[in-house]
Amino acid sequence: ASLAALDTSVPGPNRTQDRSAPAAPAATDAFANTPDTDPALPANRAWGKEILARIPGSELGNDLVAASRVSGLDQLNGIVDAALEAGRAWGAMGGAGRAAVLHRAGEVLESRRAELLEVMAAETGKTLDQGDPEVSEAIDFAHYYAERAKDLETVDGATFVPAKLTVVTPPWNFPVAIPAGSTLAALAAGSAVVIKPATQARRSGSVMVQALWDAGVPREVLALVQLEERELGRALISHPAVNRVILTGGYETAELFRSFRTDLPLLAETSGKNAIIVTPSADLDLAAKDVVQSAFGHAGQKCSAASLVVMVGSVAKSARFHNQLLDAARSMFVGYPETATSQMGPIIEPAAGKLRKALTTLDDGESWALEPRQLDATGRLWSPGVRTGVADGSEFHLTEYFGPVLGVMAAETLEDAIAMVNKIDYGLTSGLHSLDPAEIGLWLDTVQAGNLYVNRGITGAIVQRQPFGGWKKSAVGAGTKAGGPNYLVGLGNWVPAPSTA
Ligand code: GLU
Repeated sequence: ASLAALDTSVPGPNRTQDRSAPAAPAATDAFANTPDTDPALPANRAWGKEILARIPGSELGNDLVAASRVSGLDQLNGIVDAALEAGRAWGAMGGAGRAAVLHRAGEVLESRRAELLEVMAAETGKTLDQGDPEVSEAIDFAHYYAERAKDLETVDGATFVPAKLTVVTPPWNFPVAIPAGSTLAALAAGSAVVIKPATQARRSGSVMVQALWDAGVPREVLALVQLEERELGRALISHPAVNRVILTGGYETAELFRSFRTDLPLLAETSGKNAIIVTPSADLDLAAKDVVQSAFGHAGQKCSAASLVVMVGSVAKSARFHNQLLDAARSMFVGYPETATSQMGPIIEPAAGKLRKALTTLDDGESWALEPRQLDATGRLWSPGVRTGVADGSEFHLTEYFGPVLGVMAAETLEDAIAMVNKIDYGLTSGLHSLDPAEIGLWLDTVQAGNLYVNRGITGAIVQRQPFGGWKKSAVGAGTKAGGPNYLVGLGNWVPAPSTA
């Protein structure tokens, strides 16, 4: 096949990046990634400005949040019972029937791209350039899992029996793509779903759920809940009828869920502490851009974000790469998303705890190459920080912070750099910038992380092309990669055909 034929990111004839033109229905027979909005088109810039103008005072999703409040155990149990009951018909519908609804969900999500960008920006501070690919990813999940649902029924003589009820607990940092991906996967696999959006992002999650309802997913099959009390969360996770829990969040949350119920069927995507290694053979211009985007995009609030850059040999010893990196970091425009030029938005809550410490204090041997500054009284808006001299085994080396601060480490050799990366308990994403095939081969063979990126930033996994999932303490439970061919397989049970011997 020619390279062009393999490149599924190239928009097909029925796909458009121009948001002023009506979107043609997506092809339903083959998967192709949805294009992001192209800001080079003047019509799209005008479209974006209209969204920005609506952000202050935006009320999108408030009504849905109010309607989905659950305040007592009886109410919660009633929702679970209704989901189980309605889920029977959904599970019995077959993969092809569910696929048709999911493809429609992808189309409805595309038609609400502007609303989804608005609510994410208003509620979580996500800038449009970060939110737009996230909406594309949610749409990709719909079309991709729709197609995978069709392959599920029987494999090697074993029959797929859907899970009855899946609880989805997404994070606030990807308030549309992650709740959509987890929910659409479970629905594709024939399960009913109870989704509890993250508290800081419940309007965004609710607007996403509304799109799925409007596409034809019955409201009982996909129940949206906002739990008024912590105890209700525990009750939901430990409910005996729940036979899958899909969590994306901190490692501690996965441990907490497991403490609720020892036999918990958990698929959890958890924390990350990710590094990019830069060797002397690298294209340093490219590396500087990729490190800065991976570290400071969405203010570093991604499980996949770069928190460390490990400079090897002469890269560490000369000023060239340091200066490129600092120039790139300094040039980022920091501001709330309603400012069209913002490239880095606020953090979700006023910096506190270990993040505040990482933004304000240094350890022995460390110094600020670029000191982060608090830019307004809210405590949410910070300029990017770069600390140098981060020592092997130090607190900054091994701790996840989830904010706009990058640590610089130095290693004599690539082997030393890989050993530093592998010392970290987590293993979600990892990056290498090198133009030497031998170095690339060594790194691929030995680095311990789920998603490996060579000569590219380490955030922004792409459905089908780069499925997403970690190992070590970045994954808890029986998960396969989201957006990959096997994800649905773990969302039900496989029953072997009766033996005829
Ligand atoms: N899938 C996202 C990415 O590749 C990260 C998701 C997360 O932060 O949990 O950047």
